[in-house]
Amino acid sequence: MIQAPKGTYDVLPQDVERRRVLTGHAEHILGAAGYRRIETPSFESTELFARGVGEATDIVQKEMYSFDDGGGRSLTLRPEGTAPVCRAYIEHGMHKLPPPVKLWYLSSFFRAENPQKGRYRQFWQVGAEVIGSDSPETDAELIVLLAELLEAMGVKGTRLRIASLGQPETRGAYREELTAYLRAHEDELSDEVRARIDLNPMRAFDASDPGTKAVMAGAPLLLDRLASDDAEHFAQVRALLDTADVGYELDPTLVRGLDYYTRTVFEFTSDALGAQSGVGGGGRYDRLIEQLGGQSTPGIGWAAGLERILLAAPEQPVAADLVDLLVTVADRESREAHQAAFVIAHEARRAGLAAQLELTGRSLKSALKHADRIQARYVAIVNDGEQTSLKDMSSSEQKELATGAVIAAILRGHGL
Ligand code: AMP
Repeated sequence: MIQAPKGTYDVLPQDVERRRVLTGHAEHILGAAGYRRIETPSFESTELFARGVGEATDIVQKEMYSFDDGGGRSLTLRPEGTAPVCRAYIEHGMHKLPPPVKLWYLSSFFRAENPQKGRYRQFWQVGAEVIGSDSPETDAELIVLLAELLEAMGVKGTRLRIASLGQPETRGAYREELTAYLRAHEDELSDEVRARIDLNPMRAFDASDPGTKAVMAGAPLLLDRLASDDAEHFAQVRALLDTADVGYELDPTLVRGLDYYTRTVFEFTSDALGAQSGVGGGGRYDRLIEQLGGQSTPGIGWAAGLERILLAAPEQPVAADLVDLLVTVADRESREAHQAAFVIAHEARRAGLAAQLELTGRSLKSALKHADRIQARYVAIVNDGEQTSLKDMSSSEQKELATGAVIAAILRGHGL
């Protein structure tokens, strides 16, 4: 039997409603704040992610689905949404729009990760980006919008951690300081951390082995090294979050898996999730647009995982689909009756009713049973082309009508 590839899943009809609820909240919450939806292609030039996300990141090193397009170009299934949105911003000259440009998306992304609960190889993210403003209000507002979305979805046990990464230059100097510190304590570190000291020393803060943890407890912190304007920006973001009554923890070791961040970074987790507790996160990327070939333009964004939101949110009772009418025939041998039934169902839908045609050649008795099962309000039983019995399923009352009068009778019965 052929099965879905490892780390992927099918969205079955019964799963669609909760996803629609999330889309609705995102549309409402982000739409009200002036964000407009954008969709970019599922694959992009590999170079976009290598340049945008960063060569040294786990995503680019290990997790990209890249392939040759047959013409010698390397393409990659998008592992994240920010670089593609910035690519589109540049490509479509959106710098000519009144700033800031506020965009949101709900798309699927691809990462060759080890699948587990809440971690897939194809997953969906709802994301928001604001391009063209570096004010602290932008950062705080964006964070508040994600908090609102998670609250609207009923995500349980959320926590927010924030930090500032400053500028790449500050980070470069800090990186050297941290690397020297790690080198000085090399013997106490785990093999994995030691192997990555030069490639990505910040990752040492993520390590869980006791030796590395003890070393990291005394490590220098980037938050203590920020340039004064970055420190001031961060202080203002925090003051705004305080004003909005959004609780957060300052986490000087917050490491995000993408290289393009500057200044504010943040992450929401949920205690209702297991090991994969990250629900959504993001940060500022003031250098990214320039790095991708555009004019120097500040930006900030977040992305939240749809699967994790749904895992951490309560199940809601899902209303059954509404069926106004099931159309069937009394005599399965009559071609005229089948034709008339086809026309009734078609015209009923044109008149705005949810109407289904009996398609499997069920006997009248089992068609009525089926009508019960799908909770149809009426069943039209076409006797011949001319005459139709209309049965009201709630009262069991049945009327004989001219076939052409069936739809009007239902609309009247609905009080329409
Ligand atoms: P990131 O783009 O890595 O910052 O991730 C943002 C959010 O996307 C995370 O907090 C998760 O909710 C979700 N996410 C990231 N990777 C995966 C994955 N492999 N499977 C499911 N959700 C993911």
